[in-house]
Amino acid sequence: MTKKYKTLRLILGDQLNANHSWYRTSSNDVLYLIAELKQEATYVKHHIQKLCAFFNAMEQFANALKASGHQLLHLNLEQTKQYQNLPNLLESLCQQYQIESLEYQQPDEYRLHRQLHNLTIQNSVTKTPVKIRCYDSEHFYLAPHEFKDYIKPNHHNRMESFYRKMRARFNILMKNDKPEGGRWNFDTQNRNKLTQQDLSEIPQPKIFTTDIQNIKQRIDKHKIPYFGHIDETLLWPSNRKQAYQLLEHFCKYCLPHFGTFQDAMTQNHEAAWTLYHSRLSFALNSKILSPRTVINRAIEAYRADPTIDIAQVEGFVRQILGWREYVRAVYWQNQDAYSSANFLKAKAKLPDYFWHGKTRMNCMSHAIKQSLDFAYAHHIQRLMITGNFCLLTGIDPAHVDEWYLGIYIDAIEWVEMPNTRGMSQFADGGWVATKPYCSSGNYINKMSDYCKDCHYDVKARTSADACPFNSLYWNFLDKHKDKLAKNPRLSMPYRNWNKMNQDMQTDIIDKAQDLMLHIEEL
Ligand code: FAD
Ligand code: SF4
Repeated sequence: MTKKYKTLRLILGDQLNANHSWYRTSSNDVLYLIAELKQEATYVKHHIQKLCAFFNAMEQFANALKASGHQLLHLNLEQTKQYQNLPNLLESLCQQYQIESLEYQQPDEYRLHRQLHNLTIQNSVTKTPVKIRCYDSEHFYLAPHEFKDYIKPNHHNRMESFYRKMRARFNILMKNDKPEGGRWNFDTQNRNKLTQQDLSEIPQPKIFTTDIQNIKQRIDKHKIPYFGHIDETLLWPSNRKQAYQLLEHFCKYCLPHFGTFQDAMTQNHEAAWTLYHSRLSFALNSKILSPRTVINRAIEAYRADPTIDIAQVEGFVRQILGWREYVRAVYWQNQDAYSSANFLKAKAKLPDYFWHGKTRMNCMSHAIKQSLDFAYAHHIQRLMITGNFCLLTGIDPAHVDEWYLGIYIDAIEWVEMPNTRGMSQFADGGWVATKPYCSSGNYINKMSDYCKDCHYDVKARTSADACPFNSLYWNFLDKHKDKLAKNPRLSMPYRNWNKMNQDMQTDIIDKAQDLMLHIEEL
């Protein structure tokens, strides 16, 4: 006979928070559930490393909970294949174990929130409804009920103001109510390019070698569609021990230069894909690591290590306490409106090279191939290479979202969407960014070494070999002048555009339109 439990507690794949208060005591009346589900593996086509990382991390989390005395049901794709979706599975388990109450942690995605929030289940034996209760995930600094105090829906909310409020409220890098170091933000010191000398000092990335062959076979057997590349092992941290090791590696080798080279890009180094970035986003977004642990450890390292200055640690804290918490609040305050936002009415198709990286644009080829190889690109590659290209060529934000949501190891809609549709594509009309993050080849050349080995000439605008980003940039500004010309942060580029003579403007627009017609051949 099947054992009965009073309570079923659902743990989603991105809720692997071992410090959650749920786990402080164990009870034989409580059954925890961790399940590989087809609905989660297929709501978008994912990179294979992302699928393996989540399934592996879930498996390890399940084993750790079992080992600490909790009752746990870990179901793999084979065991959940008959359930159409999560509610079907929960309903079936509630009947099977005669569950009286179902508990879950607040999902971070609207998609899952809707499924769970609307759920009603009847206990088939007692004929009474199963009690359903939602808990906080106990991961973020801000609780959902506080979003409204920080972010006004359907409006631009300055990240910088949000960040200062968070610093003061949580007393992070503060001295007597003033920001430590005398300034809130050291962003202007975070814009260095890598010199030859700098290249020789880039640390080797810390990677792991977790065997994922069984998981990969299961994914193949169940014909889950995926793309990208994986070796026999997973290089991403998929348990607490590994996540702490990566955090330690970051504090020791990367934090001393994190801010300085935050926006730099290179192709000339084995570790070009990581540079001084932490690569903690998967561990954070799956909640294996808490943002408090990461921030506290980075500040502790800064205090102990004189080679880490305030600009480095402030830059890092800003990403997590600022950007990460901010985009989550923006996502939830705007909910469904985000997924249909298309302020610039972009409708072009994503070129095929986004799926294989074969393009003569060296920057694009490098950023895309790296994303396919590692399921990772650092922020400025996402924003100023692939994102910038999609923005300038008017790719439909739904296609852009789909690509970003599928390809990156850390991509979960609450963080992916405001970054992609908002910050990168300006499809929200400015809820996140004060202006579109658009640039010509000049910016890419300034921050990287891509251009010198490119088929295209970064200095040229209209010749056959001219860098596509150049004419596309001016064409973008011209095309959207009704919506953008009054933006004070764009007054300088519009002044420069207006200074060009009519013939030059016509040549540039003709060139851009020709490039768009032949976008697949670039
Ligand atoms: P680091 O550079 O080491 O930064 C440290 C941490 O700060 C990150 O791990 C992350 O948790 C946080 N962080 C930094 N920037 C942001 C940001 N803009 N928004 C939220 N958190 C931030 N991040 C995701 O976690 N998931 C996504 O799906 C995602 N999609 C993006 C799409 C686009 C178009 C852009 C421009 C950015 C996106 N980002 C996303 C933000 C950022 O690029 C990644 O968080 C970062 O590259 C992850 O690498 P890292 O851990 O090495 O970050
Ligand atoms: Fe990219 Fe243009 Fe530079 Fe080529 S020349 S790498 S296309 S910015």
